[in-house]
Amino acid sequence: MVSLLANIGILFLAVYFCLKSGRLGANHDHTTKSGLIGCILMEVLLGTILLSFSTVILGIRYDFRVLLFCFSAKHMDWRITSSSIFLLGIIRFFWGNSEAAQVNLIVSIILAITLPMIVKLIRDRMNDLAQLLVLVTIALIPSIVFTKHMIMDKGLVLLISIILIALNYGAVFVMHYFISDLYGLIASASTDHLTALKNVRLFNSDLIEMERRKHPVTLAVIDIDHFKNYNDCYGHDSGDGILKQLAAMFNELATPYTTFYRIGGEEFGVIADYFSPSEAEAFLHNLKSTVAHRNFAAQAGETINLTISVGVAHSQKGETLKNTLKRADMALYQAKETGRNKVMVSARA
Ligand code: GH3
Ligand code: MG
Ligand code: MG
Repeated sequence: MVSLLANIGILFLAVYFCLKSGRLGANHDHTTKSGLIGCILMEVLLGTILLSFSTVILGIRYDFRVLLFCFSAKHMDWRITSSSIFLLGIIRFFWGNSEAAQVNLIVSIILAITLPMIVKLIRDRMNDLAQLLVLVTIALIPSIVFTKHMIMDKGLVLLISIILIALNYGAVFVMHYFISDLYGLIASASTDHLTALKNVRLFNSDLIEMERRKHPVTLAVIDIDHFKNYNDCYGHDSGDGILKQLAAMFNELATPYTTFYRIGGEEFGVIADYFSPSEAEAFLHNLKSTVAHRNFAAQAGETINLTISVGVAHSQKGETLKNTLKRADMALYQAKETGRNKVMVSARA
């Protein structure tokens, strides 16, 4: 019982730290070599802790490493999953029962190859929970076959298999709902309630993250022209509706390299990553023109047109992004001063 609770505790901690470091979920970034190696080492470390808290029944070790592999295969990069299963297999080879050692290594190799392949196969076909249940089932098959090989008593093998499956499924349900709730909390803390765009809190933390990665980026600040007039004319609620429609339009035009944020009442921020300065400028010019040509619904049946002004700054070597943002703000001010409905690019720092 103590070992079971320890196993669950270790898995919860693993998920918590993964979420906290942003390494779990859709936005994870394993593009850097050090990030990849860090994740592999973390998973191997957790697997080793699980191994030391395992229960030995009839000379065979049972723990929740299978669950760790399944969560990793589903939420992280296949390279992390395969490498850590393989490395843990090697550690397990030298751990405890020598009779089981070789079979265990073969089981690890089978899992290292098959789990990521199965994730790829089922990713778009099932919901999250169903995916995890399929993965756990597949991951348990080698263990059960291996148990059969080690224990001659068929009744005992059946009993052990049922307990194994029940324990793992139970833990999957608990972990799944825990992760879903945590995702919900994280998402609501970083989403703007009116437009559902990312909020200013995420804008600031993404800037810190970009700064850390030392990526060249383009920052843009967008402000609606004469928005006060729309509010005065159509009312604040109608103004809110226009903000929502504009945000929906931004989402339509967004690319994998551009992220939109609502950073103020009627002000929006854009981070363009992996774009050259000229590509980023072309994107923003297109955005400005598309807004100007779009009809927005103001009141029953009535449509209005609006324009935006955009201040742009490309990050410079040795410059903090705080300063880049300040330059984008100054460029926006110039765009407003010189007539609005334009994209103004900051000169070099
Ligand atoms: P310009 O930017 O072109 O100089 O003129 P503006 O009238 O847009 O001026 P400013 O950018 O200072 O606009 C702020 C106005 O935006 C004040 C307020 O009426 C409106 N606004 C700010 N936040 C919201 C919001 O959440 N909802 C609505 N409906 N209006 C908002
Ligand atoms: Mg404003
Ligand atoms: Mg404005």
